[in-house]
Amino acid sequence: MYFQQFPVTKCCLCGNSENLTGEHKIKAAALRKEFGKEPLMVGVSGESNRAMKLAQSVKSKHLKFKVRICETCNTSRTQQADREFDRFHGLVAERVKNNQDPLSVFSPELYLEGGDSYLNIFRYFAKLLCCHIAEVDGPIPTTLAEFAISRNSLNRIWLEIKVDPFFSHASSNFGVDQYAAHGGLIVNGDKNTKELNAYRSTITIGPVLYVFHICLETFEKEELQKIYPDFLTLCKAKFEQAKSNQASDWDLAQVGMNTNDA
Ligand SMILES: [Zn+2]
Repeated sequence: MYFQQFPVTKCCLCGNSENLTGEHKIKAAALRKEFGKEPLMVGVSGESNRAMKLAQSVKSKHLKFKVRICETCNTSRTQQADREFDRFHGLVAERVKNNQDPLSVFSPELYLEGGDSYLNIFRYFAKLLCCHIAEVDGPIPTTLAEFAISRNSLNRIWLEIKVDPFFSHASSNFGVDQYAAHGGLIVNGDKNTKELNAYRSTITIGPVLYVFHICLETFEKEELQKIYPDFLTLCKAKFEQAKSNQASDWDLAQVGMNTNDA
C-alpha cells in the first residue's frame, strides 16, 4: 500500500488519534514577522472571486487546516523542520529584497544537499502538502508523510522560488506591502491518460512565492486507480469545472504555473 488516508479524528501524518492539534496553513511566526500587529486579511490564491476574510490574529481558525495532526507530530517530529523554514525564509527574503537569485541560498556553506538542515526545509513543505491533501480527503503518499515526520530521508519535493506576481501588482498599484497566501491543493493530470501525475501547492509570504510539488510514481498511479476511484472522479470533476471557468493566465501565475502547465 503506497497511500494513507485517515479520518479527521486521526492525525493526518501518522494516524494517531490522541492529543490532536490544528496546523497553520502559513507559519504563525512568519506571519507575525511579516505583519506585526497589522490587521490580517485572508484569501486563497487563484480564486477568481478573491473573497477576503479578516483574521483577528495569526491564531485565527481561518489560518489553520481543518485536518488535525497529533501533538507528537506537531512538536518533536516536525519542530526542527519548522524552525529551519523560518531561517530559510529569512535568507530567501533577504536575497529577494536585494534583487539576488533566491536559489543562491542553496550554497554548500548554508545548505549542503542531503544534509539535515537541507532536508528539514523540504520536510516542512512535505508537511504542508500532506495537510492540503488530507484537507480534501485525498490519499497521501505514505513516503511523503513519513518524510515530513522524519521517518525517512526520501525527499520527493520539487521546490521553485519566485517573486509573487500578485504581490508585485498589489505593491505597485495599491501600496500593499504586507501579503501572505497559500494555493490550496493543486493536482496535475495527464490530458490523454487522465491519470493524476502530481500534487502541488504554494505559499506566499511577502514578495516570496514558494511553489512545491511531488510527482507520482507509476505504482502509485495504479493504486489510485484501483483503491481511490472516488478521489480521481472528484479530481476530474474539478478539472472539468476549472476548464469551463477558463483559469486566466493571472490565476495560473498566482499558483506558480503558466498556461502550458494547465
Ligand atoms: Zn501524528
